[in-house]
Amino acid sequence: MAIFFLLIFYTQGELLVHFIDVGQGEAILIQTPNAKNILIDGGTKKYGPSLVKYLSDLKITDIDLIIATHPHEDHIGGLLAVFDNLAVKNVCYPAKAHTSVTFEQFINKVNQSGAKRIKAVKGKIFSLDPDIELVILSPFEGTNYDSLNHYSVVTKLTYGSINVLFTGDCEIENEKMLLEDQVNLQADVLNVAHHGSSTSSSAEFLRAVSPLVAIISVGKDNPYQHPHQDVLNRLKEHNIAIYRTDLQGNIILKSDGKCIYILNQEGYLEILDTNLKQDTDEKYQQEYYRYLFDQDKKAILHKEGIEYIQPNL
Ligand SMILES: [Zn+2]
Repeated sequence: MAIFFLLIFYTQGELLVHFIDVGQGEAILIQTPNAKNILIDGGTKKYGPSLVKYLSDLKITDIDLIIATHPHEDHIGGLLAVFDNLAVKNVCYPAKAHTSVTFEQFINKVNQSGAKRIKAVKGKIFSLDPDIELVILSPFEGTNYDSLNHYSVVTKLTYGSINVLFTGDCEIENEKMLLEDQVNLQADVLNVAHHGSSTSSSAEFLRAVSPLVAIISVGKDNPYQHPHQDVLNRLKEHNIAIYRTDLQGNIILKSDGKCIYILNQEGYLEILDTNLKQDTDEKYQQEYYRYLFDQDKKAILHKEGIEYIQPNL
């Protein structure tokens, strides 16, 4: 059987967010409307070469900003190969020491690259592209967290009327702090924290974010049993469509700042029309601004609510 690899190429004025399949790990490429490349994490060392190939297939030679969410190997390992093969201009990571060999190698690569080092801390706004807003919501300045995961850089991306929340491996403790911080967490698309671990994605947090789509970076048959069934249940209870890199492969979000298209290599999975978000009728908002594509890639309006949407599990 022939396998067709659908490459989604960037066009000016468009936002692309690639949730790249790196097995049990996470790597997210953001191509901004004005052609800036941002990489959030790079998966494990093992996946470094395939990550570099993914980037070079897209003709990317420069990374304007790397955000290394936290020092665990499944997030920074693959970044070593990125430093070896691409020009990196800025690197942002939390101010947290770690003892692993991979972290030492990562810091060496950062130093050798000559990239500008940026401390990840709440309130930092990246001004790489005037058409998007990318702001760090966590970690909080001066906080000594209990675990490395808690240092995860949480960022919110806004383009026009669409919002995407990136969470790294943040956990319920971080979610509580974010909720207490009273920052606007609402996002149309949620990058589910910690590969769908049950130590993240509390019901309160999901209510505050209220996404329509959740994307989980997770490896097939991983030893941690991610994503956890409780998290999948919570997402379903909140009528959130679930897409997973272990099941759908590379998942790509495409947006003009008004509509969100979710695709994978086989084509369209979903479209969200955020124009209708402005409607004041709450029922209309909840039920009508979401579409799915049928097999002929025609949009279908879901008039009877969104509960029957199949999350492909
Ligand atoms: Zn992880």
